[in-house]
Amino acid sequence: MIEAGTLEDLRDVGAYLQGHFLLTTGRHSDTFFLLARLTERPHRLQPWIARLHEQMENIDAHTIVGPAMGGIIPAYAFAAMADDTRVIFAEKSETDTMVFRRGFRLEPGERVIIIEDALTTGSSIKKVMDAVAEQGAWVSAVGTLVNRSSDGKVPWNIPFFSVLTMPGIETWLPENCPLCRHGVPLSRPKR
Ligand SMILES: [Zn+2]
Repeated sequence: MIEAGTLEDLRDVGAYLQGHFLLTTGRHSDTFFLLARLTERPHRLQPWIARLHEQMENIDAHTIVGPAMGGIIPAYAFAAMADDTRVIFAEKSETDTMVFRRGFRLEPGERVIIIEDALTTGSSIKKVMDAVAEQGAWVSAVGTLVNRSSDGKVPWNIPFFSVLTMPGIETWLPENCPLCRHGVPLSRPKR
């Protein structure tokens, strides 16, 4: 019996990969979390969401924001845990910021929770925070399924929660990547 919310659980569904990968940030790593392999199985995802929801039950916010694409499914699953919660998503603009389209609007002063699949550097979550701030709303907390930031920390002062924290996973600039130096073929699992 595999326990939900663990690395073993991710490996079992094919969401935890080891090799030589190009991350969205442009850096290289020997570890990749392909969380679509988890989110495509609602029955396997649900216990992760329940754990995250339990950790965040004291956060007073009734609007959930998920960054497209990876955050959409976990954000919707998270919002479905309560009957008084709505959920919207932010998506990439042509200028590489995050924006709300499709008529999604936040009220000035509204509190929101950002739910994302994985945290690496936090740069895309920061862009969502900017989009929220632009509408005069507030981010009360951020939650992710996996925190793979190299030191386990986050670059902001907002409460942060994660089901699984995996510090110590190295990432390298391409010019410093030891796997490139050894000629290991590079792959992009999301392609
Ligand atoms: Zn490399």
